[in-house]
Amino acid sequence: MDRRKLLAMLGLALAARRTWALTPAQPQKILVIGAGIAGLSAARALHDAGHRVEVLEARERIGGRIHTSRVWKDAPMDLGASWINGFQASPLGKLARELGVRTIATDDENAIGYRAGRRFTASEYERLAHWRERISEVLESAQQSESDRSLHAAVMEALDWDSLSRDDRRLIELRLNGDFEHEYAGSTPQLSAWWWDDDSAFAGDDIIFPDGFGALPEHLAKGLSIRFGHIVERIAWDENGVRVDATGHTLRADRIIVSAPLGVLKAGAIEFSPPLPAAKRRAIESLGVGLLNKCFLRFGQPFWPTDVDWIERLPERRGEWTQWLNLARASGKSVLLGFNAAEFARQIEAWSDTKTVAEAMGALRGMFGEVPEPRGQQITRWASDPFALGAYSFNAVGADPKVREDLAAPTGRLHFAGEATSRKYFGTTHGAYLTGVRAAREILKG
Ligand SMILES: Cc1cc2nc3c(=O)[nH]c(=O)nc-3n(C[C@H](O)[C@H](O)[C@H](O)COP(=O)(O)OP(=O)(O)OC[C@H]3O[C@@H](n4cnc5c(N)ncnc54)[C@H](O)[C@@H]3O)c2cc1C
Repeated sequence: MDRRKLLAMLGLALAARRTWALTPAQPQKILVIGAGIAGLSAARALHDAGHRVEVLEARERIGGRIHTSRVWKDAPMDLGASWINGFQASPLGKLARELGVRTIATDDENAIGYRAGRRFTASEYERLAHWRERISEVLESAQQSESDRSLHAAVMEALDWDSLSRDDRRLIELRLNGDFEHEYAGSTPQLSAWWWDDDSAFAGDDIIFPDGFGALPEHLAKGLSIRFGHIVERIAWDENGVRVDATGHTLRADRIIVSAPLGVLKAGAIEFSPPLPAAKRRAIESLGVGLLNKCFLRFGQPFWPTDVDWIERLPERRGEWTQWLNLARASGKSVLLGFNAAEFARQIEAWSDTKTVAEAMGALRGMFGEVPEPRGQQITRWASDPFALGAYSFNAVGADPKVREDLAAPTGRLHFAGEATSRKYFGTTHGAYLTGVRAAREILKG
């Protein structure tokens, strides 16, 4: 970067800092809906700038889709987000470094694969790599095509699906599930071939927190006024102010930041008066909310290779128990974390814990033979969680990514934050954090 550009950027950064430090001429009363990382980053900035801020949170805890479970007292487990992707450049990486919390990098390439009872052969690894490359070529050309369709349809058509052997089809489905559904949480028949990857990333490692991601929201929340158990049902505004109805309470304010998840907005759980503008409603309708669920299994001691981060499994039926994270390396505890995404993740939310563990163990025994029962389990069901209704947003067929800007745009006294309102970093914690900063800036600019 040339020196002039650097100085100009530094100048901008300093100016931004000064604005933040100023006490506003007229402190405003601001309500923030949701104590996830988006709501907390907004509330933090506005509180520090001298406004009167109150956060309304439906749950009895902060963090939203960042949720460190302390059920195993010696082994905190992140039931929602685990990773900061791009640790070195991400604003959340900066925050984590300032806090001095422990982090451990994981590596997607540090992986091994299994199919019924044995490791993948060298030729299977080669074929998987070949299909990954072919899919990438196919999608590159699908992005040049004249009309959009699903990622699945684009791949099936270009690879001449019917002509492929059963084994190749299974390997391709493994790549589609592992590389796209586990990443974007939408199913490949729903992900847009044009826009599935219309996002950006920060440079750096992928890190997890052995002591829990929850330290970051906790830090942001320090000293903020948060009302728990306040489920916002109605938001009304006019030229005089905002009125919010939440679990039998009525609150008034000058402005409001809504950071409820897209799933909650889609379900119409919050009534807006006047109704939201048409463009915003279109955005809410057309974007997708995907699903990623976790099943933590704790054992007496590891029976799996503990020097790898990832264990991939070729399933009999598409998408079932394909991705396992070895947490023994990161946490020092004998924990395997099974991920399920998209349709299969949705299907198994209805299962009992007993059935889920039995199925997970069936998958593990298929790879490792006779292994002991787990000593404990923790299982997430993000789609059934009324204050999330899914894991995170994705670009569905028919949703132009520009609609995220419509979702983010302020309307009257209403401002919007949350991962789905980030065009560049949707579906992530850093994206959500930055939308909170953006919403706060809108208000600070007046
Ligand atoms: C299983 C899983 C794994 C993930 N893994 C990663 C990862 O590794 N890395 C990463 O960067 N991201 C990951 N994500 C995504 C990341 O967690 C989210 O993008 C981010 O945390 C969203 O923050 P948010 O503030 O926008 O929303 P939320 O955290 O959902 O916050 C919204 C808040 O609003 C509250 N709320 C909802 N309805 C109401 C209401 N009516 N009234 C009042 N309050 C309400 C909710 O309780 C919640 O606290 C993952 C998500 C899941 C589910």
